[in-house]
Amino acid sequence: MLKSKSLERFKTRKILQQLADKKGYGTELISLYIPQGKQISDVSNYLKQEYGTATNIKSKTTQKNVQSAITTIQQKLKIIPQSLIDEYSIVIFAGAIPQNGGPGTERMEIYPIVPPEPINIYLYRCASEFVLDPLKEVLETKDTYGLLVIDRSEANIATLRGSNLEIHQRLTSGVHGKHRAGGQSQRRYERVIEQQVHEFFVRIGEYASEIYLGIPDFKGLFVGGPGPTKDDFIQKDYVDYRIKEKVLGVADTSYSGEQGLKELITRVESKISDVRYVEEKKLVQKFLRHLAKDTGKATYGEKEVRDYLEQGAVAILLLSDALDIIRVKISCGSCDYTLEKTIREGELSLFEESLNIEECPDCTSSLLSIVETKPLIEDLAELAETAGTRVEVISAETEEGSELWNAFKGIAGILRYKPS
Ligand SMILES: [Zn+2]
Repeated sequence: MLKSKSLERFKTRKILQQLADKKGYGTELISLYIPQGKQISDVSNYLKQEYGTATNIKSKTTQKNVQSAITTIQQKLKIIPQSLIDEYSIVIFAGAIPQNGGPGTERMEIYPIVPPEPINIYLYRCASEFVLDPLKEVLETKDTYGLLVIDRSEANIATLRGSNLEIHQRLTSGVHGKHRAGGQSQRRYERVIEQQVHEFFVRIGEYASEIYLGIPDFKGLFVGGPGPTKDDFIQKDYVDYRIKEKVLGVADTSYSGEQGLKELITRVESKISDVRYVEEKKLVQKFLRHLAKDTGKATYGEKEVRDYLEQGAVAILLLSDALDIIRVKISCGSCDYTLEKTIREGELSLFEESLNIEECPDCTSSLLSIVETKPLIEDLAELAETAGTRVEVISAETEEGSELWNAFKGIAGILRYKPS
């Protein structure tokens, strides 16, 4: 099966947002983390014991809810093949969740999740909230690179993590390059300047070492700047040897400010091609090139892209993670009436309220309700997966990503062939 990592990450992020709001009346929400390679039969036996232990719970309601959550999980486990757990880790959340009302409105909900990266812990917990931290951490595990641009007057100490460029420290030396006098005082003046530059480098070295050493799993450092200053800086031991060992590349840039950092990313991108930032930039640039050259292979907008997806014509589908549109399916409780609508995510609860006072256009009953909601991203991604289309969820944080969102409403595609 075609698996899109960026899509899996996006889905996990969304589901985490949903689950964070869910609370049980008692300690009755179950979180179960199953590491890769664990035998399902062992987990199942463990749950059997927990089912028995639950008879000691004083509150009858809580006891009933815990036991029924365990049963729900066990049923789910029966249909999960061992081969899946041999390859991935699995997380299951289950529990009786109150449905916008008092006691008695609880409904059993279950969320099986395959995390985008394996979570290799075994954890069973029964609490009034779900245990989400290990899943959150997995979304955060991305390689972090250091980016340092430097010249004699300015330095910027930054990190690049996924698509996120963060400037930690900007330093200036106050050194001016120009000199006035000649002879004896000229040489003294130059010595003073060199001393100031040296002190500036010491400061940069201290800041950079402290910042980069503080990052767990620091992947490596790229250094940029105009002229030979950056090479001097690295060769002399201004930065801690543990950071110096991790210098992955040195590149010329025209500037030492924020512009210089962006230049540096471009210069070293072949070395960090695994960093999402670069991947995403390239994908959107590819789409933009097709558009600019009028090759006929670029498409955008929900309707156009959906049509091409259905024809199986899309090679790569680009979706902005800023897309906040969901498709809702409404149905009537007393007749066959159904309707699909597209609304913004933030309008969902308002829409649900408005539905309560609306009548069914077919039978005039007031039994309309939402039976399904699906983010547009997932809707289009499912369509893409059946057509063998590569799906890429693009962060709106990069320049290209924000262009995808702002100029193309967050939906674009590169076609396999020029449509006739
Ligand atoms: Zn009806």
